[in-house]
Amino acid sequence: MRYTETGYHLEIDLSRGNIERVETDPRLTELHLGGLGTNAKILWDRVPPETEPFSSDNLLIFSAGLLCGTPAPGANRTIISTYSPQTLYMGYSMMGGFLAPELKYAGYDKVIFRGKSPNLVYVWINNDRVEIRDASHLRGKGAVETSELIKRELKEPKAQVAAIGLAGENRVYMASIEQGRSSASRLGLGAVMGDKGLKAIAVRGTKDINIARPAEYMQLCNDVLQYIKVRAPNLIPEVMPILAGLGSPQEMLHTDEKWHTENFMWGNARVRRKDFWNKEIEEKWKDSLETVRTRLISCYNCPMKCGAIISAPGVSTYMMKCFSKLTYTMAAFVEDLDFGFKIAQRATEYGVDGFSMPQAMAFGFELKEAGILTDADFAGCPSDNEGKFYWLLDRIVRREGIGDVLANGTYWAAKQIGKGAEAYAHNNIKKHEQLPLKLGMLNPIYFLMYCTGEKANITQIEGNFPQAPFSTMELKQGFVKDWVQAPDEKFKKYVLDWELRGERSMPFYPPVEACCEIVDWQEKMHHIDDALGLCAGLSSFPLKPPYHIHNLPAFISAATGMDMDEAGLTQIFNRNRNLVRAINVRRGLRRADEKPPEDHWKKRFPELETQLLDAYYKFKGWNHEGIPTKEYLHELGLDYVAEDFFRRGILTNNEGTPSTSAETEKK
Ligand code: SF4
Repeated sequence: MRYTETGYHLEIDLSRGNIERVETDPRLTELHLGGLGTNAKILWDRVPPETEPFSSDNLLIFSAGLLCGTPAPGANRTIISTYSPQTLYMGYSMMGGFLAPELKYAGYDKVIFRGKSPNLVYVWINNDRVEIRDASHLRGKGAVETSELIKRELKEPKAQVAAIGLAGENRVYMASIEQGRSSASRLGLGAVMGDKGLKAIAVRGTKDINIARPAEYMQLCNDVLQYIKVRAPNLIPEVMPILAGLGSPQEMLHTDEKWHTENFMWGNARVRRKDFWNKEIEEKWKDSLETVRTRLISCYNCPMKCGAIISAPGVSTYMMKCFSKLTYTMAAFVEDLDFGFKIAQRATEYGVDGFSMPQAMAFGFELKEAGILTDADFAGCPSDNEGKFYWLLDRIVRREGIGDVLANGTYWAAKQIGKGAEAYAHNNIKKHEQLPLKLGMLNPIYFLMYCTGEKANITQIEGNFPQAPFSTMELKQGFVKDWVQAPDEKFKKYVLDWELRGERSMPFYPPVEACCEIVDWQEKMHHIDDALGLCAGLSSFPLKPPYHIHNLPAFISAATGMDMDEAGLTQIFNRNRNLVRAINVRRGLRRADEKPPEDHWKKRFPELETQLLDAYYKFKGWNHEGIPTKEYLHELGLDYVAEDFFRRGILTNNEGTPSTSAETEKK
């Protein structure tokens, strides 16, 4: 018997209209768990590195994480993977909501799409009955609207639907896939879905999932719920509101936005407004949020309620994802929070990344002000800040005029526009928009995360370690005293010794070796979540979460029947992490690509940064170019990766690599 997984994938060839139910190899679960891990294995095995994102040979994989569908709180993530049109690397994005458990209950761990449908279609998975259905009547419809129309058409109000909007249909690089109160937003996965002619997938499942040791598993789940009850209201002092408790960033409960509005830059990372937040603004924002927020809502089987139902004046009711309430407002320099709620409704229907899209729009207007784009490019554009943003959003998702250029995101648009536009695309890492932050002092931990992270989520791979030192010894001691999540005692010492100023402050503290350990630990937690389908908001993202490296092996053991311990889980993390890296190395990723935006910090330390990257590569078992070594790949059971690297000349017998980064920018 297979535990926690169904043991089946659905393989759907959209070119031929062929549907197959395929039994999977249980050994792959032992090696990679599921979710991101097995997605990476499939991409490595089946999609050659030369494949263009918009090729019919590219796969689009919807995967339920290994624990999805079990009673584990927050185990609801769908991990979607493909080659990204934006970065050209492996793109993977996670969404919460309800799709992944439903897929498990229908009897599948993954749905793997290949080919391209000649007409717009949607796929209806109703337990064993799977159909490809015409979606021509849904062309141009919003993502949320599509979901409702499909449920009505199928007479299945309980079906879970993931859909793209107009942006995905038009292959906008910032296109998302929307589902329930969640979305897979990053890296243009919606554009690949649109390229495949796939408007939506609808799923209804009524089967069971088997657990190897149910009583033990239920006890672990109850322990987590109990912990959440105590921890969630017990905020960590001196930490910004979104990190003080649990849940996903920017949860809709918070009205105190001092930190974001004063630390994130406005426009396309244009200006920091250090004194923005005052009593008057605070009251106005609180009033706006509380007026439009009709109800707080959760994802499947989670008590946290990070999302909200929004009823803003003049727009239809929708569910807001955490971050969008601020991104459009700040990018457009509009000080009325109502605007953010109104434009986010339209953007959600279009199906766009609420993080990249506002940056791309602000970038467009900044180029106009700089005279790089002209009045002719913006003919018909209103002059007020709100009107301008609506106008440009419409142009971008329709790929009309200048919108067609900006639809490729700031990195590619800057290249296409030329005339100095590249200087304005200053938030990119690996061709992708990142945090609109410009800070003072280099943070060595974030430096490593920005450089080497391949997750491309807005928070990179941050999480369980504090973002900054606590100001007093009392606070430090208070923090470490019940810090059961720390991998070992030395992490507590790093927190205790870390100072705001002086010798033990940034950028030289934590020391290089400690930075490597911290970043690796944080990345480990993200990777484990993305294989298990756990929400980062209960695990890798907040401080002191309910899931951590010491209790997760017990969850996996009780659920699957595998004998898992911390060392075994760490080995799987390293295997999965290196497989993702290997896919990207095979697509050209090299050291030269691993850098934060040049102006991210004012105070830079080139010598220290080189030391950090050198040490981290070594720590990770990678060579000077960031490529996993033959010996390390052997340790991880990835000899087939090493052989492939040798065949391609990526590794040579002296472990050297070609000195220049492979050109990945061909489109
Ligand atoms: S913590 Fe928030 S985002 Fe995560 S599963 Fe729960 S409700 Fe969803």
